[in-house]
Amino acid sequence: MFQTIAVVGSGTMGNGIAHLFAQSGYNVHLIDISAAQLEKALLTINKNLDRQIAKGIVTDEQKKSALARISVFQDMEKGAAGAGLVIEAATERIDLKLDLFARLDKAAPPECILASNTSSISITKIAAATARPGKVIGMHFMNPVPVMKLVEIINGYSTEKQVTEQIVNLSKHLGKTPCVVNDYPGFIANRILMPMINEAIYSLYEGVAGVAEIDAIMKLGMGHPMGPLQLADFIGLDTCHAILKVMYEGMSRLHHAPCPLLTNMVTAGCLGVKSGEGFYSYAAGSKELVVSRRFSS
Ligand code: NAD
Repeated sequence: MFQTIAVVGSGTMGNGIAHLFAQSGYNVHLIDISAAQLEKALLTINKNLDRQIAKGIVTDEQKKSALARISVFQDMEKGAAGAGLVIEAATERIDLKLDLFARLDKAAPPECILASNTSSISITKIAAATARPGKVIGMHFMNPVPVMKLVEIINGYSTEKQVTEQIVNLSKHLGKTPCVVNDYPGFIANRILMPMINEAIYSLYEGVAGVAEIDAIMKLGMGHPMGPLQLADFIGLDTCHAILKVMYEGMSRLHHAPCPLLTNMVTAGCLGVKSGEGFYSYAAGSKELVVSRRFSS
């Protein structure tokens, strides 16, 4: 039933969502206010498709057709017109999302489902910014989107049952495993993940151990594929900070208050992989994981 998918935001998640849908045969309207981000997103999708070719997952032909299905827009209203589904993956800020959804409600066709990829913000609140709350839902993909199997689907207070069913079926059609949850701060994925990341940052801040030791303990001792500090860099430190704030404000639990070190890093523009430096530094071309000079002994 969905032919054209509009994706709002072309950063870490938006480019992955656009990649997944284009590779699965959907027309994608990829929207961002920043022309530079759109350009970067297309380059990333190109590079990630090449990686899939090297692994034998897609052919050259499939890469070409996937890229041809993606059109980019800076004008959100134009990009959302004619879409059967909009997935919003813009910056994790409630004021921004409320404004985007009020505008999307006017720009998208009346039957269009409006989904948010938010990590923590209330779907019920986002839905209340529209005149179609029954058609608003959380569709929370994991990073990197083409690789990770889970889609956490969040029912807002007013989400219609039929809308949930459509999004569950769509997720399966994309080769993902949907899990439906209710609308409380952080949902399930981040409600459980973020306190661990925050505690890892507190452990560094309080001098209990260094970056490499904290990550090695969680990788080698707990079998995690990535240590919590590396994972925080990968998610984006600004995004982690925003999620923790939503959880702290929503549940008033002290362990959700963002560690002051995380706050300082975000204020200083050290956002992890996307800015080139976080707990590790990501110098262009280097594949080796190098602890940021600030944290190396
Ligand atoms: P990001 O910072 O990498 O990208 C955000 C993009 O939104 C940027 O390209 C920015 O230019 C764009 N944007 C900002 N305002 C806009 C507007 N008014 N219109 C159009 N585009 C706009 O962030 P991200 O990590 O991709 O996160 C996006 C969403 O996905 C957030 O809600 C986040 O919580 C969620 N999420 C992130 C992860 C992750 O691992 N990073 C995982 C799951 C969900």
